[in-house]
Amino acid sequence: MMRIGIDLGGTKIAGVALDAEGHELGRVRVATPRGDYDATLAAIADLVRALEQRFGGPASIGVGMPGIVSPATGLVKNANSTWLIGQPFDQHLARALGRPVRLANDANCFALSEATDGAATGAGVVFGVILGTGVGGGIVINGRILEGAHHIAGEWGHNPLPAPTDDERPGAACYCGRHGCIETFLSGPGWADDTARRTGRRRDATTLAEAARAGDAEARDAVARYTDRLARALATVINVLDPEVIVLGGGLSNIEALYDEVPRRWGPHVFSDEVHTRLVRAHHGDASGVRGAAWLW
Ligand SMILES: [Zn+2]
Repeated sequence: MMRIGIDLGGTKIAGVALDAEGHELGRVRVATPRGDYDATLAAIADLVRALEQRFGGPASIGVGMPGIVSPATGLVKNANSTWLIGQPFDQHLARALGRPVRLANDANCFALSEATDGAATGAGVVFGVILGTGVGGGIVINGRILEGAHHIAGEWGHNPLPAPTDDERPGAACYCGRHGCIETFLSGPGWADDTARRTGRRRDATTLAEAARAGDAEARDAVARYTDRLARALATVINVLDPEVIVLGGGLSNIEALYDEVPRRWGPHVFSDEVHTRLVRAHHGDASGVRGAAWLW
């Protein structure tokens, strides 16, 4: 049976169709009708219809989205697409599409995609990390997402940064109400803010990464700080979950230095005299969210 995956983002809704073997048949995308719940449902239904007409349906449908459907209430929460919050989105989608729909957090879809046929293919325990405008995480064990009792398994972005130095304490205020969350250091905007506070010069994450590659000393320092913090933050994940592979996605996963430097630095923080955990870059890039949604069935 054909699988359709939908990635509901803040600015774009992407759809992909995979054949029964998982080969990609085609993709479509449209602008997200921001702030309009009914139009969001209609846009997803239109994408599904378009893919089924092109490639021959019916298909199973999985949807990845920021946030989660609370197992306690059946309603969406923790979504930065705020117009979804408080809605029984999965039920409304099922009604609009005339079949059951599986919904998952976008970071979980990312991890599932990379564990199924991406950079972590064949690994039993996989931690997928998104380093972008926010910091998300998802856990896949033996090919299945681990959702957890509150559907927040893998959400490490709002843990405090481990082993903080004096100048990292208490850390910047986070929108979640805490200080010094991992996300305030490791998201793109968080990294840019931290660097601006130190250097008095504001550059965004992409510019910083490029300047570091070109040899700019200030930017190289910023990358070194980022690398050390990511190493500490991932070491605590290794201590709890002990994944075989950690896959990085999102804009900051393009910083080449991470893949050598982070494993070089996480050792002292891991409760093991040897650490063989593989740190790899996402194979499917930006397409992992939508492919993982398709793999929910
Ligand atoms: Zn936070």
